[in-house]
Amino acid sequence: MNIIETIKKNKLLTAVSLAYVFLFIAMPDKAYLSVKNSMYYIIEMLQIMPVVFILTSIIEAWVPKEVIVNGFGEKAGIKGGVFSLLLGSFSAGPIYAAFPICKILLKKGASIANVVIILSAWAVIKVPMLANEAKFLGIQFMGIRWVFTVIAIIIMAYLMTIFVKKEDIPVQKGQNLDKVTGIDIKVQYCIGCGLCEKLLPQYFEVVGKKAKWKGSILNDAQIDELKPIIDACPVKAIDFK
Ligand code: SF4
Repeated sequence: MNIIETIKKNKLLTAVSLAYVFLFIAMPDKAYLSVKNSMYYIIEMLQIMPVVFILTSIIEAWVPKEVIVNGFGEKAGIKGGVFSLLLGSFSAGPIYAAFPICKILLKKGASIANVVIILSAWAVIKVPMLANEAKFLGIQFMGIRWVFTVIAIIIMAYLMTIFVKKEDIPVQKGQNLDKVTGIDIKVQYCIGCGLCEKLLPQYFEVVGKKAKWKGSILNDAQIDELKPIIDACPVKAIDFK
């Protein structure tokens, strides 16, 4: 890979590096302070992220899609919103730790609205935060802020579902698509809705209320063609294998 390709693939990193070079030339004292602050956050991330990656691996490997779909999916309704609020509120760690977890929840069938609720609750109404708020600003302040914040979170979650669709989120990008050999249908989750057959009848057919894969080994064009249906399946029964 030549240097131009490396820069193209790491635009943000390149921009930050150039900003540091400029800062070191123009204002070395500020550059030193900036490096010190960055190092603080890098060390914090190195301490937290391994735990987060273990947690996401556990969710990926051990929590069935069905559980995520039932608890946090589009059809989970008010129950899903309450679970999401609780999950975000009883979380620990900085907000950036929530992103990989939310990505895996989305991939396994959580709805956009519930992911917004988790992220927002994690960021602004975590229980340890509320306890400190009540201690320094009083229970009344904390309680009223909590009520208005929850209302705002619910409105935001609703609006996000209007403006952002699942296919806009690159949840599949982490998967190594070079190694994809076919399609895996988890028949135990399939509810036989027929959506896959309707959208891509050349690959799917529903027999006895269960979807069946009719294709063979996939090429790149077919992988792209199949990504939307993997996201569209209401119970996330379809995945690459
Ligand atoms: S879209 Fe999903 S649930 Fe519906 S038939 Fe296909 S695999 Fe089954």
